[in-house]
Amino acid sequence: MIVCKFGGTSVADAEAIDRACAIIHSKRHRQPVVVVSALGGATNALLDLAPRAAAGDLLAALQLIEQLRDRHLREAAALLVGSPEADDIAAEISTTFDELAHLAEAFRTLGYLTPRSLDTVAAVGELLSSQIVAAAFRHRGLPAEWIDARKVMITNDLFTRAEPDIDELSQTVQEFLVPVMTRGAVPVIGGFVGATSAHVTTTLGRGGSDYSASLIGAALAAEAIEIWTDVDGMLTADPRIIPRARLIERIRFDEAAELASFGAKVLHPSTISPAVQRGIPVYVFNSRNAAGKGTVIAHDAPRHPVRAIAGKRNTTLVNVKSARMLLAHGFLRRVFEVFERHRTSVDVVTTSEVSLSVTLDDPANLESVVSDLMEFGDVSVERNRGVVAIVGAGIADGSRALADALGALGPVPVHMASLSATGINFTLVIDDAEVVPAMQRLHAKFFETEA
Ligand code: ASP
Ligand code: MG
Repeated sequence: MIVCKFGGTSVADAEAIDRACAIIHSKRHRQPVVVVSALGGATNALLDLAPRAAAGDLLAALQLIEQLRDRHLREAAALLVGSPEADDIAAEISTTFDELAHLAEAFRTLGYLTPRSLDTVAAVGELLSSQIVAAAFRHRGLPAEWIDARKVMITNDLFTRAEPDIDELSQTVQEFLVPVMTRGAVPVIGGFVGATSAHVTTTLGRGGSDYSASLIGAALAAEAIEIWTDVDGMLTADPRIIPRARLIERIRFDEAAELASFGAKVLHPSTISPAVQRGIPVYVFNSRNAAGKGTVIAHDAPRHPVRAIAGKRNTTLVNVKSARMLLAHGFLRRVFEVFERHRTSVDVVTTSEVSLSVTLDDPANLESVVSDLMEFGDVSVERNRGVVAIVGAGIADGSRALADALGALGPVPVHMASLSATGINFTLVIDDAEVVPAMQRLHAKFFETEA
């Protein structure tokens, strides 16, 4: 049994859904459960129209609804030419958008929106895409059954970021998914969507379909989870910066998490952690290149000194120098409370006996942070900094990797350096302008030369 999740781009239109169908056809012997996102971009449009209606711009909201209606009707019609189900699906789509238009009018009248009503709107994307995909599969000879996610994914009532009840899920998958598979059919379910035990629709937060897939896979003790998206997998660097970046065939979960913090947006590892923790491998595949090898993310992939090179620009560095730090206890706590108070998250941290340096990705509250920090000592701010990181679970295992990294970096000024004791990441803070050339040199050193 495997779980195959198709993201928004992999179900964006009839052609994409056709490809998804071919992929599932080829996997039938593995008993796939299919989890789908909304048609690409639909969730954004839904989340955009509701606040517009509440702000009084009903016309704009209704226009967005009509665009969504047309798009869903068009793609469903293209998929279901000659299907006896075509009319039923079209009617379902139309009814859904009629209801949405009524809701938009209600928001306009009320003049406000609650997270609960926002979830009702957002859920439309997956509820429709999953019904369209299930019907398209059937029309292509693949026995598929649509499963209403609101019966399976029972959550708490933290609307817009609801947390599923794992014990419930282990029962609902037995009740609703397993019998379908036993009948030899493919269950198709919308990701991202759930409902409270009182049947009120909820969503799991943006990008929640990966989370749904991971939770369902864990509840079914699946052999594997496949995340079908529009990139080949995780790469050794951001290909926009390093066109020669290579596919990483196998990566550890903690390495993938580290890369995500640098903006690798293939998927957010926290969303797949329920599966990885249970030892279920998570594959990332490209639905436009189904023959590709993809990347597998696993808990226990072998430790490599260097898996990827990451970087980010526009970082701000804050230094606090204070003789009072010498041999004092509780000092760091008080300093970090300043960042907490101003909702500023810190990224790289280094300390010496009488100084503390941190980097900030978001300097929005920098002024208040600095003024509060002055209580502790001299504060200086360095802008135009950037970060490069060499990511690999074995970076500190005694290989040459650290020396090679510094050698490849060359004589650029290093403002901070950090190697965590868990040794997943060697991070260097350098001048912003040096980030791209440094990434290029590091990538060339570790991935473009035959060792
Ligand atoms: N459709 C939802 C979103 O765009 C969930 C997902 O695709 O993962 O956030
Ligand atoms: Mg997604």
